[in-house]
Order: sequence, then structure tokens, then C-alpha cells
Amino acid sequence: MSARTVGRVRAISAMDLRLFLKVSLAGVLAAALAVGCGGDSEEGSGEALAEGQPVQVTATTTMITDLVEQVGGDEVEVTGLMGPGVDPHTYRASQGDVQALQEADAVFYNGLFLEGQMQDLFIDTAEQNPTVQVTEAVPEEQLLESEDYEDQFDPHVWFDVEMWQTTVDPVVKQLSELRPDAEEDFQQRGEEYRQELEELHSEVEEEISSIPEEDRVMVTAHDAFRYFGEQYGMQVEGIEGISTEGEAGSGDIQEVADLVVENEVPAIFVEGSVPPQNIEAVQAAAQDRGWDVQIADEELYSDAGGEEGSGAETYEGMVRANIETIRGALT
Ligand SMILES: [Zn+2]
Repeated sequence: MSARTVGRVRAISAMDLRLFLKVSLAGVLAAALAVGCGGDSEEGSGEALAEGQPVQVTATTTMITDLVEQVGGDEVEVTGLMGPGVDPHTYRASQGDVQALQEADAVFYNGLFLEGQMQDLFIDTAEQNPTVQVTEAVPEEQLLESEDYEDQFDPHVWFDVEMWQTTVDPVVKQLSELRPDAEEDFQQRGEEYRQELEELHSEVEEEISSIPEEDRVMVTAHDAFRYFGEQYGMQVEGIEGISTEGEAGSGDIQEVADLVVENEVPAIFVEGSVPPQNIEAVQAAAQDRGWDVQIADEELYSDAGGEEGSGAETYEGMVRANIETIRGALT
């Protein structure tokens, strides 16, 4: 671990530990209460709604909003809290959001501390409504350890398309509990969506394999693409860490610029949900060393999808748009 990373860990871990303890404590308390009241273990799963009544869902990121819509179809009405271009790491809930969480029949969120400022809210909400972490079924051994936070995992699992398929089941299960009359529909749509994702996964594999191996280096503003790199064989390098809460120092910029020059990387990438300054600074630093690196024409979608009509408003659309951008810039 380099000195710069150590500095960042130290700066963040105190805050994070507090958060972690709070979450753990609340969990223990909730469990103790449930046992004390002799409540059933399904507590918090929500009571079934009337037949035909749309399930009111509140979801966090655009990827999760899309996931719930794909599985729920006409049986759900989804309120997505974080729109296109919104950074979930730093997102703070508004009064309206809190209300949307409280009034929902079910809440779906990414978890793994992606929505770092909302952990307490999820705990509160879970006491009243079913509150589901969609990444709960990802096998722990497949999770990448966070490079920034001790005892945590990297939350950006959606860029391993195969891994993202595991998020379908928890959604099918929760919606079915709320609307038993529509269970078959949820299961069928879930199965169809899983198959679409399986096809998308093969497509990404194929597209990436068409990039010459020595050019499979991806420099981005923050470390959102490690699962992508693992699954599809790309070397990925983020200037900021896994969260965007830290701050990149000039050392980070110089280090990444060195890597760009050494590997003669043709292009580096700006992300829609992260300001472009750091990537521009890497470009300037590489140019100072005599290597003219381009910034890719299109922004990558990292932690949020695109505007309505962009084609990248769905999860599948954003993955495809990214692949096109990556291939176009690196080949
Ligand atoms: Zn991120």
C-alpha cells in the first residue's frame, strides 16, 4: 500500500468506524427486540397488499430503479432517489427522500456502503418497511475488499454483469411477499431479465476481447471498475479511491500520469458522476512528460445511468454505452 493510500485510509476510517459501530449496534438491538417481542423471523418483510394494488417502491441508484422496474413491470411504481449523474457516495437524503423511504411498501438499495451517507436511514426504515440490500446474495468470496476502508467491500458490483444477476432474486422474493397474487409474473420477469443479463455478459466479454491485450488499461476518476477489470481482464486504475469522499493529492495525479506514460495509454476516461478535474490534471501531467493522452469523447457511466432518451437510462444501456466508449477510445 502506498503512502498516499495510507493517508486516505487514516482520514476516513475514524468516521467510518463510527458508522460501522452504529450499524452493528442497531442490528444487535433490532435482533434483541425481535427476540424479546417473540415476533416472527419474517419481521420487516411487510404485509401483503391487496390483489392488483401496485407496490410502491423507493430505490436508490438508477441501476436499482431499473432492476426493480424490470422485475416488477406494471405491478410496481418506483421512485428513484438518485437521478442520472448523481454520486451515491456523497448523496444526502432530502426531506422528500426521507418521506419516500418511510411511505414505501419496500425499499431497495445497493448496500456495501455505496450509499455511505444513508446508512442510518436504512436502519430506521427497516424498522417499519421491508428494506432490501440488493447485493445480499453476492457470494462473499466474490466480493473485492475495499482498498480504502478496512473490513469493507468494494460496492461497485454492477460492472460484473454476471455478478449483478444475483440481485434479481432478492427483488423477486420481496415483491412476491408483498403481492403473492403476482408471484408468477415476478418470477417469470426475473428469469427473463437474468437471461438478458447473461447475454449482455457474453457480449461484454466478446467486445473487450477485441481490444489488443496491451491496450486494456482503463484510467478513470475513481475506482468504480475493479469488478469490471477482474471479470473482463482489464487493468483498471482510479485516481480517487473506491469512494469519491477522499481527495486526490498531487502525488496520486503524478503516479497515475507515470502509469499512463509508461504504458503509452492512448486515452483516459471522465465519469458522469465525478467532476473531471483530476482526469484533466493527469492528461496535463502526461503531456508534460511528452505523452499526448486523449480524454475519451464520451463520459463513462460509473455510479449512475444516463438521462432519459440517452439510451443509457437502463442498466443494460449504460453497460453497452460504456463498452462502446472504451473500445472506441482504446482501439
Ligand atoms: Zn463509486
